Amino acid sequence: MIEDKNQQRTKLSDLGEFGLIDHLTKNFKITHKSTVKGIGDDAAVLEFNKKRIVVTTDLLVEGVHFDLSYMPLKHLGYKSIVVNLSDVFAMNAKATQVTVSIAVSNRFPLEALEELYAGIETAAHIYNVDVIGGDTTSSTTGLLISVTAIGEVESGLEVYRNGAKPSDLLVVTGDLGAAYMGLQVLEREKEVYKVNPNNQPDLEPYSYIIERQLKPEARKDVVKLLEELDVKPTAMIDVSDGLSSEIIHICKQSEVGCDLYEDKIPLDPQVISTCEEFNIDSTTVALNGGEDYELLFTISQADYPKIKANPNLTIIGHMKDASEGLHLVTRADTRIPIKAQGWKNFNE
Ligand SMILES: [Mg+2]
Repeated sequence: MIEDKNQQRTKLSDLGEFGLIDHLTKNFKITHKSTVKGIGDDAAVLEFNKKRIVVTTDLLVEGVHFDLSYMPLKHLGYKSIVVNLSDVFAMNAKATQVTVSIAVSNRFPLEALEELYAGIETAAHIYNVDVIGGDTTSSTTGLLISVTAIGEVESGLEVYRNGAKPSDLLVVTGDLGAAYMGLQVLEREKEVYKVNPNNQPDLEPYSYIIERQLKPEARKDVVKLLEELDVKPTAMIDVSDGLSSEIIHICKQSEVGCDLYEDKIPLDPQVISTCEEFNIDSTTVALNGGEDYELLFTISQADYPKIKANPNLTIIGHMKDASEGLHLVTRADTRIPIKAQGWKNFNE
């Protein structure tokens, strides 16, 4: 039988998000001197007259990234800005502008879009960024939001994913896993509501984790804190896909290994109690949950005195030689290889 090349069908789920990006962009060449860093980090880096500019963009799709049955439009507008700013901060840069584009179906009245934009306006105000443009078009498949965020950083102060060295300390901000557990509670209540619309759930015991899902914040404060502490991370990334995925990015791009200590992973008590209720392992949630929008970075051991005892920062491990691999050191002192979970969006 003759194979017709046009008949080849490769499933996107076989490549995963990052494999897909590598595949689609492998022939793109950088030709401008002003492009310092192109595809492959949290944001691109450009340089004009010694000033470095970072640019990052995200696309949020209804039914894939958000569910309007429990996501208020105002929160969605807020979150769409925050998740992009998180990538700017992950470069150690200051966010300055955003553009917002939407595609929207007739299902949405003007009042709904006003809600969405009220959330965008609130985030722009709180994070002090200018909304400078965008595009508005129609859609046949619900709501799509694309935000591009722009930031600036003094040349040489930007932080990439590829600078970690063996023996560097691995540090994370805030706590992990809450956004994922918030989503589990919201999904459960949605199912309960389908069966009995009169049921009024008591969400008070889950207030923190639900807020982390519906109205996350990006760590603008940490970029400022690091500047005040006079600490420049050797590598940095934001935690959007889950701790294990982000650690793998840093290790792969920095060509180092890592020991991550299970008992050091910061968890909020509400995450622990909700994990018990759902019978889910809290470490698995922190490793693979995602959407925490905390910053994960590595620092030289010499900087340890500057960050120790800071309540915003937790040392969760240290980097090793690449040959030693990536491991989770469990509470029982066993070593489990850290593996990528793959990308959920393309899974069928
Ligand atoms: Mg990122």
